[in-house]
Amino acid sequence: MIVPGTSRLGGVIGWPVAHSLSPRLHGHWLAEYGIDGAYVPLPVRPFALGSALEGLRDAGFRGVNVTVPHKEAAYAVAGICDQAAGLLGAANLLLFGDGGFEARNSDAEGLAASLMAELGAKGLDGANVVLLGAGGAARAAILACASLKANAVCVLNRSPRRAAILVEALRPRINIALASGGLDEWPRVAADALLLIHATPAGMKGAGAAPAAAPLVDVAALPAAAAVCDLVYNPLETPLLTAARARGLAIIDGLGMLLHQAAPAFEALYGVRPRVTLALRAELESVLRDKP
Ligand code: NAP
Repeated sequence: MIVPGTSRLGGVIGWPVAHSLSPRLHGHWLAEYGIDGAYVPLPVRPFALGSALEGLRDAGFRGVNVTVPHKEAAYAVAGICDQAAGLLGAANLLLFGDGGFEARNSDAEGLAASLMAELGAKGLDGANVVLLGAGGAARAAILACASLKANAVCVLNRSPRRAAILVEALRPRINIALASGGLDEWPRVAADALLLIHATPAGMKGAGAAPAAAPLVDVAALPAAAAVCDLVYNPLETPLLTAARARGLAIIDGLGMLLHQAAPAFEALYGVRPRVTLALRAELESVLRDKP
């Protein structure tokens, strides 16, 4: 691949970053739209974030996507941010400008778009949602549910205190009913939920995590009309989604969120709003199938 001096430069910083699907994703769009650009994986150790960002900006990069473990630190170094990054306290995109760094976060927008694509026009209107996990992805999921006009989100976490802290932090800032508890409350809250969102790494393979043998909760407690969304996308079908499928529930995997959160970043870096197509999804599915 030849990268001429005129190319628009972008990339993704993380540690580690070799597992990231973003170079493949953005590379697909650069080729599809015939854009003179390049998008590269950038392994940056946590202590080197500041110097790496300065260097990339000085070397002419337009900006970078940001993944684990840099999302919060990247937000902290930015002088300005969009509303979602401000609410999440984390950035998944940093844009480099003359005035400094601009933090953006499209995780919630990406999940909302994925849910809309799968659930149809009614989306989450008036629905009760149960959310498992209280980390950064769960925070983005709450924003997504609020943007889709869900009625309420009940956040259940292994550590109930962390779920309570998350809910207390967001309650004054967004317009949706929020409750919290421990995983033991699942049977009680599942009965009137129309969507379960799983936002913990349980069931994920790679990055040293062994796939969990059993889902964190029993999907038998959900109504027959409920859907189950897992933010984990490797494997594409997690034990939780397998159990939901076996029960006849609608399932939504984490790849949709990944694809849709990337579209606004690509537009910011390269000036074209890309389409999330079946061909793109099929390409990434085949990459995931080959991953250890
Ligand atoms: P995080 O900030 O580290 O949050 C971890 C959360 O998961 C915490 O609430 C933690 O509970 C809980 N947890 C961890 N291991 C657990 C286990 N074995 N059993 C029960 N609970 C467990 O992680 P994150 O950034 O929110 O990411 C969560 C998942 O979402 C990851 O798998 C990530 O790959 C995925 N994700 C996907 C996308 C996408 O585009 N599809 C985007 C972002 C994230 P405690 O508080 O009790 O420790």
